[in-house]
Parts: sequence; C-alpha cells; structure tokens
Amino acid sequence: MTHPTYGRIDGAIVMIGFGSIGKGTWPLIERHFDYDADNFVVIEPNADNHRFLRQHNLHFVDTALTAENYREVLGGLLTPGAGFVVNLSVDTSSLDLIRFCREQDVPYIDTVVEPWAGYYFDTTDNAARTNYALRQAVRDEAAANPGGTTAVSCCGANPGMVSWFVKEGLLTLAKDLGQKVDTPQDREGWAALMRSLGVKGVHIAERDTQARRQPRPRGTFVNTWSVEGFIAEGFQPAELGWGTHETWFPEGGHRHETGCQAGIWLERPGAITRVHSWCPTPGPQFGFLVTHNEAISISDYYTVGDPAAPEFRPTCHYAYHPSDDAVLSLHEMFGAGRQQTKHHILHEDEIVEGIDELGVLLFGHEKNALWYGSRLSNEETRDLAPYQNATGLQVSSAVLAGMVWALENPGRGIVETDEMDHARCLEVQRPYLGPVEAHYTDWTPLQDRWEHFPEDIDESDPWLFRNVLAT
Ligand code: NAD
Repeated sequence: MTHPTYGRIDGAIVMIGFGSIGKGTWPLIERHFDYDADNFVVIEPNADNHRFLRQHNLHFVDTALTAENYREVLGGLLTPGAGFVVNLSVDTSSLDLIRFCREQDVPYIDTVVEPWAGYYFDTTDNAARTNYALRQAVRDEAAANPGGTTAVSCCGANPGMVSWFVKEGLLTLAKDLGQKVDTPQDREGWAALMRSLGVKGVHIAERDTQARRQPRPRGTFVNTWSVEGFIAEGFQPAELGWGTHETWFPEGGHRHETGCQAGIWLERPGAITRVHSWCPTPGPQFGFLVTHNEAISISDYYTVGDPAAPEFRPTCHYAYHPSDDAVLSLHEMFGAGRQQTKHHILHEDEIVEGIDELGVLLFGHEKNALWYGSRLSNEETRDLAPYQNATGLQVSSAVLAGMVWALENPGRGIVETDEMDHARCLEVQRPYLGPVEAHYTDWTPLQDRWEHFPEDIDESDPWLFRNVLAT
C-alpha cells in the first residue's frame, strides 16, 4: 500500500487526548502529512498513556485541560496562523476550544461536541444534558461568526463518516431506481433529493462483533472505544431527529422550544432504550437508541421548508449494537445503578474475531431499505494501520479525511460533516474502511417479531418510529 502525502503542516500540531482514538490517529497523521516531528505535541493527563508516548519519542504535556487553564496551556503551544489542533479527548469543551483556535487562526477538528467535565452527570435537567443542546451551541456560534478559520465539528465515524455515507447511499439509491441525477451542490439540493427518492428516515445501523477469547470479567466495563465516552453518552437521554412521516408521539417525549427544531428527546437513558433495526451480518437486530450528534444534524440538514413546520424531514437515530462484552457491561451497570470501577478497551492484539459493521439504513422508499456502510474486520485493520481495532480505524481515518478537507478548505468557518465534500472525504478515507458495501433488504420493523404479546404498533406504515421502538 502506498501512502499519499496530502500536504504540509507548518507550526504546532497539538493533539488533545491520547486514548484509543488519539493513539490510532497519530500514525495516520505521520503517514499522510509532511511536518516536522518536533512540532507534534500531545496534551494527555493519564499516566497510563505516557509510556507509549515516551517509547515513540513524542512530546507531551502532562495536564488535563480545564475551563480555567486551557487558554494558557494551549496558548503556550500553538503557532498562531499555522499548525492544527486535533481534539480527541473527553471532558474538554469543544465550543471553548473551537473559539480559541479560531481566535488564533489555527484549524481545528474533533469527533464529538464534548463539554467540560461534569456536564453529563452534574444536573438532573435532562433537556440541558442533550446532544441537541450541545450541538445547538456550536451551530449558534457558527451562525454568529460565519467564515473565518476552518473548524470541523464531529468528524469521527459517527458522527462524521456516516454523513458522507448518507450522501453516497442516496446517489446509489437514485441510480438503482433508474433515476438520472446530478450530484447536488448544496444543502437544499441534497434535501430535495432525499425527499424525491421517498426516503422517510435513516438509522445509523451498527453491529460490532469484535470479541476476545477471555470472557468479560464481572465488574469491568469492556468496550471497543472510550468507556468513559460511551457511559457518558449512554446515560444522556435517548434522542432522535423527528421526521415528518411520524403520526404518533412517544410517551415521555419532548420537543425543543429553541434552535433547529429537528430533534426530540425521551425521558430515559439511550443505552437502555432499544430499537428494531437491521445490519447485513445479523439481519434484524436490537440496537440501542444512544443519543448522537448526527441524529440531529442529519435530520436538520435534510429538512425542506420552515424548520418549525417543515414540508419534509427524515427521522434519524442511532441503532447501536455494541460488542457483546459492552452489552453485558451496560446490563451490569444499569442493573447495579453505578459504574464499574474497572474499564477496558479491547485492543487489536487481543481481539480474535469480529468486525465493526457501521452504516446508514435509508428506509421507507420504493426499494424498502438500503444499508450502505463499512464492514471492517479487526484482522484487516491490523494490516492497514497500527495501534487500533476496527472501530478505532473507522474513526481515525475520518479524522484524517477531515484534516485533509480542512487544509484544502481554509476560511470555511465552523462546519459539520454534512456540509463537507463527501466524495473527497471518502476518497481519502476509503482505503481504511475495508469492504464498503450497499445492501438492500425487504425487512421492515413489523417483520420477524414474536407475536405472543400485544404490542403498540401501527401497521399502516411499517417505518413509523412507533414500530421501531421496542416495548
Ligand atoms: P479514551 O477514553 O480512550 O481517551 C480519551 C483521552 O482523553 C484519555 O487519554 C484521557 O486521559 C484524555 N483526557 C481526559 N480528560 C482530559 C482533559 N481534561 N484534557 C485533555 N485530555 C483529557 O477515548 P477515545 O476512545 O480515544 O475517544 C476520544 C474521543 O473521541 C471521545 O470524546 C469519544 O467520545 C470520541 N469518539 C468519537 C467517535 C466518533 O465516531 N465520532 C468514536 C469514538 C470516540
């Protein structure tokens, strides 16, 4: 495999956080950009990660960024007007960091809208704990300060890459329906295309089958990426983008009074809220309705008409079946009413089988449903790039693609992945995604269900959220 160099980065490249994703992103940066190695510096407070940094002669600052120190710490490292900030941490405010980087004219990227420590657990005001609220603050900042230094918000696998898959999926569907369409050039064009194709909604449909030989030890939360990150998002309220085809409103559901109006949230944690969905490997499966930025951003991006009373908007949400060990970890954690004290992220050398199958299920159209996504195995990952499992590579390669796009598109302000050139980003990312495939299915949420107990369903439209939500 030859590795193209996508450009030169002068000035400091500051990586914030060197956990599972940071460790996997660093070799891709090294491989694909031209820069002076001395200019690469990591901010990482966890001593467990320092040995790796030392072994690889990487500069690091042993500090946790806080609301009080970030200007001073970052200010001491950045090269105004050059370099890059790659934020792959938990417990740091994306919004504050975006503002500061743009003040310094330094391009920025992250994979989630993250708040300062405490946000996820310190309040019982569930509306304030939503991703809707976190995202809206970044959107408001973008609207109030258009243009300026490019800052890419939420550019991992999901949120991130899946927004590029939605576009590729729409073009695939159009072709397979025999329609000749030109690739849309703006948001309105994409929204009109989705509507004209009859798509009612999108599941971010994921099945992670990566497993190690050793059974999960009781009392340890095992996951294939950040345990802290997953617990935090899993304990936020379930959220989804709310489409115009919905005829019913869920119990405990809430709309938002301000902002883009594209999403709703439910009075229950996402990681114990199950939905019926579909992926190529298992076929029908339960996924968890874990809140994610892309559920709101995709519904927002594809809205046609007045956001408060749209003519068209797709329903969109995550339907996540994490690795089996993570499912058991969630079960144990919610049952006990407290977090496990031990955390473990499965690394590439202990995983003995499995793939991360992550795609978008575009549903409700003439051909029923199309899954479009990456089916990357851990085995293939080990051949493609070091220090990460399949989940990690789907994320780190999206960060790489986002960095390339940002360097090629300076002065674009704060952008989400829906707003980026999906073809260019996938061109950069695709060599790292294993098989990227389109699968049609005739499965609907009304099929393959046990019929022994009454369920609250509406057979007039199989793709209503009422039928997708598991009782
Ligand atoms: P991780 O838990 O392995 O690593 C997070 C790192 O952040 C740790 O090394 C930790 O020490 C560091 N950190 C904690 N507090 C910090 C602070 N105040 N200042 C600086 N560093 C701090 O997590 P990960 O799996 O590497 O994930 C990193 C981020 O990427 C998380 O926010 C996660 O939610 C996000 N993520 C996004 C996607 C996606 O597809 N969009 C997928 C996976 C992870």
